[in-house]
Amino acid sequence: MRTSIRAGQVLLPPEDGLPYVRRADTMRVEPGAVTVEDGVIVALEDDPGADRVIDLGPGAIVPGFVDCHTHLPFAGWRANEYEEKVTGVPYEEISRRGGGIASSARALAAASDDDLLAQARAVRAEMRAAGTTTVEGKTGYGLSRDGELRALRVGREVCDRMTGLFAHAVPEGYDAAGWMDEVDALAAEADVDALDIYVESVAFRNEDLERLGEIARREAVPLRAHVEQFNANRSVPVALAAGARSVDHLACLDPADIGPLARAECAAVLLPGAEFLGAEETAPGRALMDAGAICVLATDCNPGTSPVHSLPLVIGLAVRRYGWTAREAIAACTHNAAWVLGYDDRGSIEVGKRADLVLLDAPVEHIPYRFGRNPVAEVIAA
Ligand SMILES: [Zn+2]
Repeated sequence: MRTSIRAGQVLLPPEDGLPYVRRADTMRVEPGAVTVEDGVIVALEDDPGADRVIDLGPGAIVPGFVDCHTHLPFAGWRANEYEEKVTGVPYEEISRRGGGIASSARALAAASDDDLLAQARAVRAEMRAAGTTTVEGKTGYGLSRDGELRALRVGREVCDRMTGLFAHAVPEGYDAAGWMDEVDALAAEADVDALDIYVESVAFRNEDLERLGEIARREAVPLRAHVEQFNANRSVPVALAAGARSVDHLACLDPADIGPLARAECAAVLLPGAEFLGAEETAPGRALMDAGAICVLATDCNPGTSPVHSLPLVIGLAVRRYGWTAREAIAACTHNAAWVLGYDDRGSIEVGKRADLVLLDAPVEHIPYRFGRNPVAEVIAA
């Protein structure tokens, strides 16, 4: 089956073969066409003799969105907590009543595998309708050895990549160092695509991040880290020294860390959905882009801080909060996000790459401008 699509805009990388794009204002937006066959992009021109010919008019062809930071699978939602949060109940109080991550951990333990799978599949279908063709998920709501292994097993059914976020919260009966011993054993036992840790005053410390770096090196998997979300802990230099693939959140990034991060082969994964819904600080997205960082966007889809599935919505938030162009924001959740997950077969429109394409009914600039509207006319996934 050969499909040929013509459009007013095709979003192309500055050149072929790049692993990621720094300073993504170099992305090209040109009128053109893409022809795909057997799940692969075969030409950047149209083929009037193809089995199916699509003309998007003034619309655009962009790469399938890659969501490289979600917390699928999870059980249930926490809408009641969100209402408490916006009406002024302090998080400490919500947490004391058993809310927060502990509440999602209880829900996960109570849910059957079938329920957990059904919810994850429903969210994944919503993501797909909004243009996401590749999804990463994380463990982290298991909060026990068996719970984490179960989250990993269920997540594998739904997500393209699974990250072991074994160091998400310190389970009852442990201190951070004691739980890191369990994390070490879990990492040796479990088959994960990356390891991740939540570094924050209420969770793990920079020394635990350092230790996870050693574990990740031993297991030969990429290290990722949730850092600088609510407080400046100066975790970025620690993550860079540990050779991290990505540092995620960065709302409270110290200005002194922008330069070293921008020069490193480590992605800055920004999560404006969590920033907005949590009334957090704003990550220095423009400064990171200008300094040449590998900038990435993701939904952080989770039942607590960011119950958001739509990357078009996240693009809209990023453009407004960081002062990015639509081109820069799209490169961040396609090409660069694919690199974070270790994919070189997708994320950009190049001959030979997977035919993961999003067909938009409007120019790319309309994604952030018509904020909250789903601009996706059709999704082609391989
Ligand atoms: Zn997260």
